[in-house]
Amino acid sequence: MPKSDDANYYAHIYNDSRRDNKRIRILDSTLREGEQHPGVSFSVKQRIQIAWMLDAFGVDQIEISPIVSADHFEATKTILKQGLKSDILAHVRALKTDVDIAIDTGATWVATYMGISDIHLATKLRITREEAKIRALEVADYIKTHGLKARFTMEDASRTDPVFLVEMCKEMNERGIERISIPDTVGIMRPRGMYNIVKMIYDNIDISKSSIDVHCHNDLGLALPNALAGCEAGADQIHTTIDGFGERSGIPALAETSVALMLIYESNNKLRLHMLKDLSKTISDYTGLETSESKPIVGDSAYKHKAGTHLAAILRNPSAYEILEPKTVGNRRKIVFGELAGKNGAEYLLKLLGLETDHHEAETLAHGLKELRMGDVLELYLDDRLERKILNDGALKLKAEE
Ligand SMILES: [Zn+2]
Repeated sequence: MPKSDDANYYAHIYNDSRRDNKRIRILDSTLREGEQHPGVSFSVKQRIQIAWMLDAFGVDQIEISPIVSADHFEATKTILKQGLKSDILAHVRALKTDVDIAIDTGATWVATYMGISDIHLATKLRITREEAKIRALEVADYIKTHGLKARFTMEDASRTDPVFLVEMCKEMNERGIERISIPDTVGIMRPRGMYNIVKMIYDNIDISKSSIDVHCHNDLGLALPNALAGCEAGADQIHTTIDGFGERSGIPALAETSVALMLIYESNNKLRLHMLKDLSKTISDYTGLETSESKPIVGDSAYKHKAGTHLAAILRNPSAYEILEPKTVGNRRKIVFGELAGKNGAEYLLKLLGLETDHHEAETLAHGLKELRMGDVLELYLDDRLERKILNDGALKLKAEE
């Protein structure tokens, strides 16, 4: 709830944060989409560990594909036995034989997908629209006669004839398929486009029977904005992966999505945001893919401030340049001293070192740092203790020297 003493107060008003007033759910696909990223392959043990972490973090659904290999089948089966709170979805092709494999894992939720754009029908499945529809509906009926909960993904929906897309969604809706996923498989939507496509489907189905997922690819860097626009049009679940990796440029990152939902959409999720940095680190360890240091929320530089005028403001009140406390997402605030330190920065640095200082010395040090031309010379975590020290103790003598 916006408060007038909150530095973000007016931003929340511009954002109209409370407008939608609904909870937007998260499905994490690190174990499915994530593993489709070139070079990424988890061990069975790692998959189980990731599922536990995602469950503890608080995502609503976790997706894994049991059909990829015997290993994946094993992992799916084991994860299903863990008694996690998140739904575990077995992700398979829209084929009865695949659904049988999902059933064999013990899954109660099955997610099937079929490319329904003309290009996917022609080049991938080599069937007509009519044949695709018959196949999809047979599979939907098959899933329902087995008493399973289901999601159907209209792959390449954003490039599908709207008449056919709505027809397929209505059929699934009538069959009581719990969730219909609208993906922007190739990442060609702009937010308004994603809004329009989801709105069209939302207006044409009985929303008490089926809810809508959005699965947006990041080929133009618009995955998260598009997914959020889809939710403004009626979808209520966003697909993510930890750090956002997936096919090609991936999909929305779990960290950015979670924080956007809770901070600027005021969605009432119970997510343990403080796990985000650790989740990112675990994935980076498992995949060997480095997290970019400027990555929002979890990057090492996400809360790094170069000393100078920023630092003075940050020390008085971090809200001057930060939208949240780094520790709420498991990250840490850092300050950097170097050639841009300026007189303020140099003065703080001298104080930190326990040196009595006057303006002249600070100026000399600032000048010296600049002359060194070494870029960033010193980097420090600005934790609570250090902050208090700087703020409360003007002279900042180290205890030992007193
Ligand atoms: Zn995808």
